[in-house]
Amino acid sequence: MIALFALFFAIGTAACVFFGAWNIATWFMVADTFTRTVGNAIRLVFSRKILDLVKAFFSNSLLFIRLSRESAIRGAIISAFLISYVGVILINHLMAEIVPKIGPEDPIAVFLYAPFLPSYFFEVVPVGAIGALENLYGFADNLFMAVIIFGEVWFAYRRFVLKESPLKTTFADVSAIILTVAWLLFRLVGESVSLLQYNVPPSIGSYWFLAYGISQVLKLFTLDLAYLAYAMWSLSGLLLALFMTSIPLNSKLWHIFTGPLVVLANVPRGQELKKIEPLSPTGAFSVKQMVEIDGCLTCGICADNCEVYSETTNPGTVYVGILKNFRSIMRRRHGPIAKILRQEEPTSTELKLFSRGVYYCTLCARCREVCPIGIDTRSLGRAIRELLVSEGHYPANFNMMKDAVASTHNVLGLPNSERAMWVEYLPNPDETLTKKTRAEVAYFVGCMSSFSPTVQDVPVAVAQLLQHAGVDFAILGENEWCCGYPLVWAGMRKEAEELRKSNIERITELGVKTAVFSCPSCYHSWKTEYDIDIEILHHSQYILRLIREGKIHLKPLDATVTYHDPCDLGRNSGVYEAPRDVIRSIPGLSFTEMRFNREKALCCGGGGDVEVVDENFPGTIAKQLISLAKETGAGTVVTACQQCKRTMLKALSKEAPERSPQKVVDLAELVLKSVEG
Ligand code: SF4
Ligand code: SF4
Repeated sequence: MIALFALFFAIGTAACVFFGAWNIATWFMVADTFTRTVGNAIRLVFSRKILDLVKAFFSNSLLFIRLSRESAIRGAIISAFLISYVGVILINHLMAEIVPKIGPEDPIAVFLYAPFLPSYFFEVVPVGAIGALENLYGFADNLFMAVIIFGEVWFAYRRFVLKESPLKTTFADVSAIILTVAWLLFRLVGESVSLLQYNVPPSIGSYWFLAYGISQVLKLFTLDLAYLAYAMWSLSGLLLALFMTSIPLNSKLWHIFTGPLVVLANVPRGQELKKIEPLSPTGAFSVKQMVEIDGCLTCGICADNCEVYSETTNPGTVYVGILKNFRSIMRRRHGPIAKILRQEEPTSTELKLFSRGVYYCTLCARCREVCPIGIDTRSLGRAIRELLVSEGHYPANFNMMKDAVASTHNVLGLPNSERAMWVEYLPNPDETLTKKTRAEVAYFVGCMSSFSPTVQDVPVAVAQLLQHAGVDFAILGENEWCCGYPLVWAGMRKEAEELRKSNIERITELGVKTAVFSCPSCYHSWKTEYDIDIEILHHSQYILRLIREGKIHLKPLDATVTYHDPCDLGRNSGVYEAPRDVIRSIPGLSFTEMRFNREKALCCGGGGDVEVVDENFPGTIAKQLISLAKETGAGTVVTACQQCKRTMLKALSKEAPERSPQKVVDLAELVLKSVEG
């Protein structure tokens, strides 16, 4: 007859498989079709990326290299913890295969008895019969358990004593820790009783160093060892069954399975900028994104690196909280417990509250760069917004923006016929710029630079540089429509289709080879969403080309500058070096980096359409960036984005004028200054 502990384990495993399958089915219900995802996964496994998959699994699911970059101690402890989990499972299953069996010899029985091997190990293996292997097994088994218990105590200390997590403690957090520790403690007591039961001598028993220690205490009492062993191993089986059942039902445990899947699913992402996936016919999410939502470790590292969270201190505005809230919404809609207990679906008020947090995120993606398992938070942000828009739970101001773009073709709702009014500010206004029917290069100006007086200096500088270099270029004038970026990232992708179509037609009519963008968001949109076969360059890249070709002649500048990486140019489009190379080309200029730069650069607060939700909030975020720039002692902050310039100028206007930095300029303005000498 099957032992009680193995029976418990069998029931726990079946429950784990059943509820796990339900969770996975939910991914496919909410997201893409089954066949497409499975097809992609199979293609990936049988491609040359297989080595990348293996490498990613070891480096970020077991060794936690990304996490170690943020915190070496945290990375080392979590890595040791996970390796020990895998280790204790592997070593017991391996030994269960090697030693003589009790009960049936079939693989299922071996699997069910393996976690309880120490309960019968000395019954089937005479003491000392397999020499060093026996001692190694006992030592490794106890060492792995010691590390897991230490890890759980460390997690509990951080969460309950230091209260480091931005999230409130839930039943799931407490039960995950209690279940794991209780299961291992009962297992250890079971091992210690078994050592006594089989009279294992200290020379061998001491390798099971934890169990041996407990056995020395138990020895002081008169006990019915056979009865105690039965009780302890049965309880250990029951707790293991509860643990297994909890894995798919408790998000703190479910990521044991989904965390590594996220790491593997992100392998194909690579570094290069890719076209955005078309809108899924079945919903806003891909299966990969559903896995990411479930895979979040709730480690809170995103919150530690989020400027928005540091201002709001509301976890609902950063991904650790956004994903937790979203998981809860999904579970209440589709999860097994909700269905069995007939829980109510989230109310409209709850969804509105959730939506408020989601729309405070600037989509800067700083958190994506530090997330230990590389969750693509920014893409998830867009997908969640798309779902919220489809259900009507989004800030009302977005309707004004949507209507403005639909009626005027710019986000400011101003007459688009005035889009090229900045041309008048050129020292040599060229009336033909908007009238050309053919050109080599098109300069796509963007809504904000076209209309906002604070940043019209940017297109004026770009146009002057192009004139200086003798480039045959045109602008679209009133035929330039919003690129669609603000709508796409608000979750209104469909509304941007017409804009894209019109812009592509106009640019194609001009027959240009190259389109140049001074707005990183326009550049990013054209790179990732526009289907057009021409060269797409940010102005930093094009200016660098003109300098290298000797078409722009730079004179020395005596100044110290620092550079701010705009999120949509740096992190989101991968352009870090071109602006720096341009700055370094200017003779006499002293360049100093900010403490956080490139992938870790701070956000100016001007992205993610946050300004539409709360007009003053971007200025609050920009203050953090200005403080960082101050550390460098540079007099000027150079950026390569009109929106960064706007928000930084706003923050700077509230600073004492004598304190550095005193100026914020666009890269084109800096280069023009050098050209003019
Ligand atoms: S999104 Fe990433 S960084 Fe943030 S809590 Fe989840 S796993 Fe941690
Ligand atoms: S994308 Fe930026 S603003 Fe949004 S949660 Fe991540 S770090 Fe914070």
